[in-house]
Amino acid sequence: MPELPEVETIKRGLDKQIINKRISKVSIEKSFIKKVGPSANAFKKALEGKTIKNVARRSKLLMFEINKEQSLIVHLKMTGQLVYRPKNNKIVVGGHPIAGPQNLPSKFTRVTIQFADKTTLFFNDVRKFGFLKIVDRKELNEALSKYGREPIDKDFNFPHFKSLIDKSPRKKVKSFLLEQKIIAGLGNIYADESLFVAKVNPERRVDSLTKSEQKLLFVAIVEIIKKAIKYKGTTFSDYVNAKGGKGNFQKHLQVYGRNKLECLRCKKGIITKIKLGSRSASFCPICQK
Ligand SMILES: [Zn+2]
Repeated sequence: MPELPEVETIKRGLDKQIINKRISKVSIEKSFIKKVGPSANAFKKALEGKTIKNVARRSKLLMFEINKEQSLIVHLKMTGQLVYRPKNNKIVVGGHPIAGPQNLPSKFTRVTIQFADKTTLFFNDVRKFGFLKIVDRKELNEALSKYGREPIDKDFNFPHFKSLIDKSPRKKVKSFLLEQKIIAGLGNIYADESLFVAKVNPERRVDSLTKSEQKLLFVAIVEIIKKAIKYKGTTFSDYVNAKGGKGNFQKHLQVYGRNKLECLRCKKGIITKIKLGSRSASFCPICQK
């Protein structure tokens, strides 16, 4: 599943392409009708003839502003993909490369948004966990209220991080980092990497962190997310960034995906993957105390 840096990369790729374009026609594939909201007809009516004013992102949610009152929100979930096809066929892809964009629409195309200038935005999704929904301002604010500040927000500073720690003393630190209401946009990859950099064991309780560990972890989170955005995210087999290319952060991963391999830092520990609630955590048992 794409995390914050990957969705940010998709957003940056798309907003250059689709802002100020008028939507001429919207089609929804039959099996996906229940995944668009509020209803298929209302969805089409809200978009056709309208112009996309702005593209924004909060955590992994993409938001396309239609007007002051209405926005289209899109979540890619596990296998969603947004593909923009300009007139010259130079494609812009964001998400999971499940269909050759030259052959779109494909059997996985769930929603097709055609623009008046003959360019097209396709939403493809193999497993259909993703969704597209028209929301009014109140619903948008409700959706956004589920997210805390992001590590790249200007007001995500150490006093703020400390206040989050003080509010959740009993949580395990890895679960604490993953909770979107506390910190938005940290997923499994970047939480594991941050804990490795800060040398903190993912199973520690939040209230056991010393002041210097708190500071190390705060700095690690911010740096890891910024670096991942700079490298356009992490590419595994099922993800490409908004330019149709691959992200490069996987070359910088130190612990995620390195289960049973030797620790790159201490050269003594073997990276261990454990179950932690419904998620997993990878860490070095020697140098992450
Ligand atoms: Zn180690």
